[in-house]
Amino acid sequence: MSSTPLSNSTAHWRALDAAHHLHPFSDTKALNAEGVRVITRAEGVYVYDSDGNKILDGMSGLWCSQVGHGRGDIVDAIAAQLRQLDYYNTFFKTTHPAAAELAAAICEVAPEGMNHVFFTSGGSEAVDTVLRLVRHYWASMGRPQKSIFISRKNAYHGSTVGGASLGGMGPMHAQGGLPIPGIIHVQQPYWWAEGGTMDREEFGLYAAREVARAIDEAGPENVAAFIGEPIQGAGGVIIPPANYWPEVEKICRERDVLLVCDEVICGFGRTGEWFGSQFMGVKPDLITFAKGITSGYFPLGGVIVGDRVAEGFIEHGGDFNHGYTYSGHPGGCAAALANLKIMHEEKLVARVKHDIGPYLQDRWLKLADHPLVGEARMVGLIGALELTPDKATRAAFAAEEGTVGLICRDFSFREGLVMRAVRDGMILAPPFTLSHAEADELVGIAWKVLDLTYAELKRRGLLVPVPRIDAAA
Ligand SMILES: *Cc1c(COP(=O)(O)O)cnc(C)c1O
Repeated sequence: MSSTPLSNSTAHWRALDAAHHLHPFSDTKALNAEGVRVITRAEGVYVYDSDGNKILDGMSGLWCSQVGHGRGDIVDAIAAQLRQLDYYNTFFKTTHPAAAELAAAICEVAPEGMNHVFFTSGGSEAVDTVLRLVRHYWASMGRPQKSIFISRKNAYHGSTVGGASLGGMGPMHAQGGLPIPGIIHVQQPYWWAEGGTMDREEFGLYAAREVARAIDEAGPENVAAFIGEPIQGAGGVIIPPANYWPEVEKICRERDVLLVCDEVICGFGRTGEWFGSQFMGVKPDLITFAKGITSGYFPLGGVIVGDRVAEGFIEHGGDFNHGYTYSGHPGGCAAALANLKIMHEEKLVARVKHDIGPYLQDRWLKLADHPLVGEARMVGLIGALELTPDKATRAAFAAEEGTVGLICRDFSFREGLVMRAVRDGMILAPPFTLSHAEADELVGIAWKVLDLTYAELKRRGLLVPVPRIDAAA
């Protein structure tokens, strides 16, 4: 349709993109009017755009880049694998060395008692696999009525029909006829916005008991599993009160409901433990993973299955009528193996726990001294800022929700730092290789961005506090 100019200019790529490329989670009309940003290369913790701007990748791409960008070892491992075996499937009584080795390597770092892996191309497919695998498990054990999933409002479990249905995102449910039946969404453990007058611990117990209430209302004999992200990522880096997860685990065990942790973000070191469930002190029956397993160098995800479910499934399940063409793609497996090798050799999970994690947390939490920041939170290398015009009451702004977040995000990009906006907060999840100097730079830019945002809000008269509707009241 469009003519192709010969120059490699930003304008050229923008024009092609606007003419032909539909973007995920984007308003195409608005994006085309504004002009898309073109990222052309990446190195370490930085990405570079087509105008030569250097931007600190505070989001690790989309929560992927544990070991940082431009790691030649991973690129070489993928190339060598594809030269040896570009593709073969794992369906018909076949495997290949990288898939077998990766399954074992994942079980080596997985929580105790989790010894089997099912591969997918990404996180959404992993979540869909859980939905079908868990229901098939219960049916195979002679309890087909155990089929309901309990999930949380504002959870993110991906964009497939199953994943988006299990997720609790209102705007996603509003499109395409979702959610599918058989899913109950309950209170999320989001103290800042929904804790009302309760203290954090009280609210943690309250939110956990909403899980119990939902299971008991549906009848535990009808409930297959509870699924949750140890820390809700896309929902705004919601770090639950410390008593929440242990209470949820107890509630599930008492009712014989399986516990599924969606670790697509928390898995592979983000919290300073290999898995977020270990950070929260709970033992799930199944874990979904993707993103950090390859640091984003190649698409790969999967499900780690604990011994109870794996044994029942293998012994009684027969054929599992489920799988993806790219389940265990050789390129993805090679990328994951090379990525894990780097994580082991450079002790990156321990670095998040004992070195760069505490170093960045110290500085990030001090952003709460800024007049615009009501709460700064971070564990491992995953954190958030809640912006508010009134810290004491945790008030919202006198503007449509998200307006302030977007103003802040745009300043941040302009100043050379990728932070993502969720509602009127900012979230952060940098690569594990971030140096101390880069952490200082990051926090310095963040403070400047908050100053710029504050001045802009003042200018536009948006610093007027609006009380929150107390969801938990
Ligand atoms: C990103 C994400 C997914 C979806 O993964 P995709 O690879 O985009 O399909 C699922 N669950 C969580 C918690 C995620 O953050």
